[in-house]
Amino acid sequence: MERLQKVIAQSGITSRRKAEEMITEGRVKVNGDTVRELGTKVSPKDRIEVDGVQVQREQPVYFLMYKPSGVITAVSDDKGRKTVADYFKDIVEERVFPVGRLDYDTTGVLIMTNDGEFANVLMHPKYKVEKTYIAKVKGIPLREQLKKLERGVILEDGKTAPAKSKLLSMDKKKQTAIIELTISEGKNRQVRRMFEHIGHPVQKLKREKYAFLDVKGLNPGEFRELTPHEVKLLR
Ligand code: URA
Repeated sequence: MERLQKVIAQSGITSRRKAEEMITEGRVKVNGDTVRELGTKVSPKDRIEVDGVQVQREQPVYFLMYKPSGVITAVSDDKGRKTVADYFKDIVEERVFPVGRLDYDTTGVLIMTNDGEFANVLMHPKYKVEKTYIAKVKGIPLREQLKKLERGVILEDGKTAPAKSKLLSMDKKKQTAIIELTISEGKNRQVRRMFEHIGHPVQKLKREKYAFLDVKGLNPGEFRELTPHEVKLLR
């Protein structure tokens, strides 16, 4: 048995707090009866409706995918390009969606789930999930430029929060460098824009780590289920 607001939030309709509002507003029915009590518990057999529409309930599932390059982080694409959800379609019964976004050409750790509430929590700025990226950049940034990234740079949508960086290697002949950058936000194209800002555009980008998770043991395009313990740690 689970709390009604949790089940509604899990189905991806809305956040848990909004689900509570919907309940108290009398917009939620369980087996045909309006329920306004926030403590109400429901079993998998109960039929839940919000605004007269039945809530689709699935077992929550959680995956870690090694996103390959050249794939859209979405469940569908109107231009017909391959999406990360396509990798799951014939293998996983549940309809999973990505938590956050990696660019078309970015590779690495991507969480996929059908648990809307879990996704909302992970993406909420309040929780500051650390993400570590390995970027191959044009030119060789000076220590002082990396310090700027660490302190925060002003992008068009505001200043970036403190970050960590490390110069992993450089190729003086080709004039490129490999930098590790750890950020705790998820602004759109943030890593690429941060490096552009210091004059070292990204040529290749991989998300090496999402919180404590990495792609060890997986090839690009492969995925595995998260263990219940990993899911608990992420929450
Ligand atoms: N930052 C980017 O610029 N791109 C990504 O795909 C992820 C983070």
